[in-house]
Amino acid sequence: MASPFPVDKFELSADEMDGVGSNALFGTTTGGRGFTFDDVILLPGQVDFGVTDITLETQLTRNIKLNMPLVSSPMDSVTEHLMAINMALHGGIGFIHRGNTIAEQAEEVRLVKRYKSGFITEPFCLAPSNTIADVDRMTAEKGFTGVPITENGDGHGKLLGMVTSRDVDFIEDRSRELSSVMTPLSDLYTLQESCSLEEANKELRESKRGKIPVVDGEGNLVSLVSRKDLLKNRDFPDSSKDKNDRLMVGASVGIADVDEAKERMAALVEAGVDVITLESRHPDIDREVELIKFAKSNFPELDVIGGNIVTARQMEELVKAGVDAVRVGMGVASIATGQLVKAVGRPQMSAVFHVSRIAHSHGIPVIADGGIANSGCAIKALSLGASTVMMGSLLAGTEESPGQYYFQDGLRLKKYRGNHSRDALVSEGLQDSGDVPLVSTGVSGAVVDKGSVRRFLPYQTQSIRHGLQDLGVRSLAALHDSLYDQTLRFEIRSSAAQKEGGVHDLHTFVRNYVH
Ligand code: IMP
Repeated sequence: MASPFPVDKFELSADEMDGVGSNALFGTTTGGRGFTFDDVILLPGQVDFGVTDITLETQLTRNIKLNMPLVSSPMDSVTEHLMAINMALHGGIGFIHRGNTIAEQAEEVRLVKRYKSGFITEPFCLAPSNTIADVDRMTAEKGFTGVPITENGDGHGKLLGMVTSRDVDFIEDRSRELSSVMTPLSDLYTLQESCSLEEANKELRESKRGKIPVVDGEGNLVSLVSRKDLLKNRDFPDSSKDKNDRLMVGASVGIADVDEAKERMAALVEAGVDVITLESRHPDIDREVELIKFAKSNFPELDVIGGNIVTARQMEELVKAGVDAVRVGMGVASIATGQLVKAVGRPQMSAVFHVSRIAHSHGIPVIADGGIANSGCAIKALSLGASTVMMGSLLAGTEESPGQYYFQDGLRLKKYRGNHSRDALVSEGLQDSGDVPLVSTGVSGAVVDKGSVRRFLPYQTQSIRHGLQDLGVRSLAALHDSLYDQTLRFEIRSSAAQKEGGVHDLHTFVRNYVH
């Protein structure tokens, strides 16, 4: 039967009708136009497998493999040891920021390296001079029933005793000092730092105790093991581990002062860091090349990430220096003002695509850094050649980021600031010098509470898996193959199409996790 539609007027093949491949999108025909996440959408592929068939295995650097393509940014409102531990447990990695002294940054690295799954490594403690009322308050706020007592109330101070509900339940005078009611160290059962989780769990079961403190050779509290945790301990089969079975961790090193950078690098290596990322306020490739060469000849086991870069030419320079991965992104982060202030940068999807083309031909993985506002951005960055994405604002509001929550306008918020915000530069010791003003290229602000990364990260990775499934690829390697063999198809979205692709025409709606 003849078709009622005048289809034979079209002489296009299905391939020609279904968007364009990356070469057409980013080739010279685009007339030097740059695209970012919202400009572009991916067309579906052929889905003939389940979401559980998808692996998110990837390379962070030439030598470091991860099971999750998400990493946390080295910023003082994003990554200290607690974030880094949780990123590594989920199969990613965290980069400890450098907004502190060399010794402090190295200690943060050590805290990650010392982490033992199942141990409470940051126990809440009280001092002997605290009162029973303080215990009541802690129980009400945090739900704990057993509190270690250390010399100065410090989480890793000298252990003096322990207060449990049994010690204080029937005392009417709640202003009594804990020194007079605690179970003293001489009556306490403790474990040594060297004990394994299996041994600790066996002791918990056999001794029927609720909590057992773990101490070092000098009697300082190292951690706690608790019966409650024994019951709810989760396995993290995807966690990122080094060859000694410790969690992996990265750290950043600023390149402004080359001598300081070398000293910092040495201290971080001594603390056990697995990878460092070089950072600068300006794209100073010569200095980066010098530091990469220094690292390669002094610490051959250490992987070095260069950047941030956005051009193919910068990538070629870093390849010659022997870089192990690069961070891509300039002026595109949520807190960045570089494109406004200096008019230099590049839209992120173009930057990721062009740098990745050079990087991949040398076996070097790319980290898309900045502007990741939801899992869709992460999928687009990975589709354009990135092997991992680095997140700042998305993680800054989680429980594991440094800083306290506060309330404003009815919302629970945490501070989030750019490394190059005026605030951060001043705390680094920089200032206006006479008539020469200090120019900042970032802002400080706040982000909304996102709960724990222990819920947030699984939500993000599952969303990425769904994206890959819709694209018809089972792995990031297959995604990159489809990018380069042109089977991955893109379309540029008009601004009306961008509006259509978001939530629209509703009076109100409830946001799920993050989108
Ligand atoms: P976000 O995920 O969009 O918030 O971007 C995080 C990234 O912003 C970091 O990983 C850094 O590369 C970048 N960044 C951090 N501080 C600044 C700043 O002050 N100005 C510009 N970019 C910054």
